[in-house]
Amino acid sequence: RSKVNILGIEFDNFTQKEFVCQLIADNRQHLNRFVVTANPEIVLAATRDPHYQQIINHADYVTADGIGIVKGAKILGTPLAERVTGFDTMQALLRSANQNQKKVYFLGGKPAVISALKNVIKEKYPHLIIAGMHDGYFNDEEPIIHEIQQTQPDFVFVALGFPKQDFFIAHHRSVANSIWMGVGGSFDVLIG
Ligand code: UDP
Repeated sequence: RSKVNILGIEFDNFTQKEFVCQLIADNRQHLNRFVVTANPEIVLAATRDPHYQQIINHADYVTADGIGIVKGAKILGTPLAERVTGFDTMQALLRSANQNQKKVYFLGGKPAVISALKNVIKEKYPHLIIAGMHDGYFNDEEPIIHEIQQTQPDFVFVALGFPKQDFFIAHHRSVANSIWMGVGGSFDVLIG
């Protein structure tokens, strides 16, 4: 697959639908995957922080989570199919996890958000298996990593905001062959 470089970030060219299918197929093979759905703020932050840029470019997939990135790619003569957002991707994966009784770990957000999220997930996705849930305001990450290692989730959604979530995933992803994805403020949106 050829990549599309925008401001130093190497983007993958997927439609939203293709991308979800790719991740579901990867999970079936128990592949370890690090996903970044890069919005313009992330791209900008990466131009200012070479270490962050390097972390993103070492992800397995980087999608364009912003119409401006898609437009920029077209102007540069290296078009991307469409915008592929973190929220839509997460929702599609949750639906699939519900249908296939997959294990999901949710990390991040305020304690009140995480406890509300538990009810929303149980109600909306009753067949999904919650591998674990933890808020994003912890001092010691060790118990969280231990839990992920013990439960080996199919999907790990990390909502710590950028760049924190991406550094976290890059650092810890080896403990489980999961689809690891940074989802920013998505839990806040999910609980409505
Ligand atoms: N967050 C967290 N721990 C932190 C900092 C942030 O769990 O130490 C959460 C915060 O509660 C929010 C999300 O990360 O749910 C960040 O959302 P924001 O909208 O700031 O980030 P973006 O969606 O732009 O990446």
